[in-house]
Amino acid sequence: MKYKGLPINDGIVIGRIRERFASGSGDKKREKADADFERMRFFDALLEFESSMKKVASESSTKEGSDIISAQIMISRDPVLSDDVLELIDSGLYAEEALERACAKYEEMLKASGDETMIARCEDLAEVKSGINALMGGGSAVVGTAPASEDDGDVIFADRLSAAQIVSCKAENVKAIVMRGGSEASHAAVILRSMGIVSVFGVPYKSEDISENRECIVDGTNGIVILGPTQEEKARYSGKSIPITKAEKEAAPFTVEPSKTKDGTEIGVFCNISSGDVPPEAAYSDGAGLVRTEFLFMSGGFAYPENEQEAVYARIADALAGKETIIRTMDVGGDKALDSIAEIDAHVDNPALGLRGIRRSLLDPDGFMIQIKAILKASKGRKIDIMIPMVTSLAEVKEARHLIEGCRYELGKHGFSYREDIRLGCMMETPAAVMCAPELAREVDFFSIGTNDLSQYIMCADRGNPALSNYVSIYQPAVIRAVKQICDAAKTTGIPVTVCGEAASDSCMLPVFLGLGVRNLSVSPYKVREVKSAIKKLTMSSCMSISSLVLEADSADKVKEILN
Ligand code: PEP
Ligand code: MG
Repeated sequence: MKYKGLPINDGIVIGRIRERFASGSGDKKREKADADFERMRFFDALLEFESSMKKVASESSTKEGSDIISAQIMISRDPVLSDDVLELIDSGLYAEEALERACAKYEEMLKASGDETMIARCEDLAEVKSGINALMGGGSAVVGTAPASEDDGDVIFADRLSAAQIVSCKAENVKAIVMRGGSEASHAAVILRSMGIVSVFGVPYKSEDISENRECIVDGTNGIVILGPTQEEKARYSGKSIPITKAEKEAAPFTVEPSKTKDGTEIGVFCNISSGDVPPEAAYSDGAGLVRTEFLFMSGGFAYPENEQEAVYARIADALAGKETIIRTMDVGGDKALDSIAEIDAHVDNPALGLRGIRRSLLDPDGFMIQIKAILKASKGRKIDIMIPMVTSLAEVKEARHLIEGCRYELGKHGFSYREDIRLGCMMETPAAVMCAPELAREVDFFSIGTNDLSQYIMCADRGNPALSNYVSIYQPAVIRAVKQICDAAKTTGIPVTVCGEAASDSCMLPVFLGLGVRNLSVSPYKVREVKSAIKKLTMSSCMSISSLVLEADSADKVKEILN
């Protein structure tokens, strides 16, 4: 039995069907609605929803996954929604019915805005509603999570999966996902691509053909799903007789050739690593342009022993087979709230404008020096560099450098060696850093543009607030002009510029970045090949013309118009 659906994420999986995700209950009937009791049920479910979603977000192996779950948490916290639910409960409705009606009203409001980004939030709203409903019915917010399995080729079949269910798949060892519903631009698709899980949506399979353990083939490149494949089909898809996917064909030589534009300009394509695991896809990159070290401090607070940190950094660099590995010092605070500081941040009005990144490190020089010594020790015989986040002044860089010098001295005194020519770079992600870019360019060895924060701070718009995603956008003229200023400053001292925020893998923005002077990109490991092949199709002269045009645009819409 062969079905055709929407190809969502490349690759081939020959596996076995796993228990489908069940839907939550949430429809227990009681005799009469008691407002106090219903309020309590709603609030308990709301709190439980938030805490279980936070856990899912913190366990997400990708940033896309945690961002989407965070957006859902924001919706669940919206007082417009909860006030409506409470009002409806007070008017005599059961909590489920009140939630249903309040969500319908909220959805209407999103749709009436006429704003595409707001309309796209309806998908999150539906997931928030079903999560809270499931909890009120005594279930869990991540309803129907499949049991763990040792089988390597498991394939989940479902009508539709929520972002939280997909994020939880990583731990479940799922290799492919087939859904009846879903669209190419849905959150589910974004997360699946970021996790590298082969997937096909819009597959009209019949329930009676799906049985536990039945063999199947999922071809995510061509959107084909085969139930009960023949020996010949299996042989064909296992690559014995024909090459399987376009992506695999392109990647055939596993060695990394430098990525060049059509006219021969070399562009480094690095990957972002946000956990201790380096996915195999990282092998196609030129190294790690950003190792986010926050994951180390997620549960145990800031006291992560130096030798254990050193082992993690060395392991990451070794997994990248001797290629350049840029380790960013701890960047917690703001949207990267850790349990250990949640208590402190709960008492400040604007955590995103509070003790984040290098500010926090400089307030705790002992902790910062432990991390630096660990990085230095790991750099022995490895191409490791250091990068500091959330820089807002030259003074911070000088102070950080001073502490790094202190660490070098201390290590040397105790007979430890490290990479002598280790470089220090700074994240360019605040308006202050843009304004001071010329001085910073004289002080550091490289710049790395964090477009996620740069757009948040330039546009004064919370990167975690889904209602503001049009503001937190690389297409905003103010953000593009900031990127230009950074590149211009870097040119004057000859230091290299990398873009390491999400926008680095936006193929529409690629010619703009190159035209402005960016020569390295750091993207999700799963995007490396895609970005490399996009680079090959460009010429530097066309990139320069496009970037000049874009710099003249006076609105995000005009920028999009030029780039599409
Ligand atoms: C950024 O801000 O764009 C960035 C790469 O850093 P993070 O997302 O970790 O803040
Ligand atoms: Mg950042």
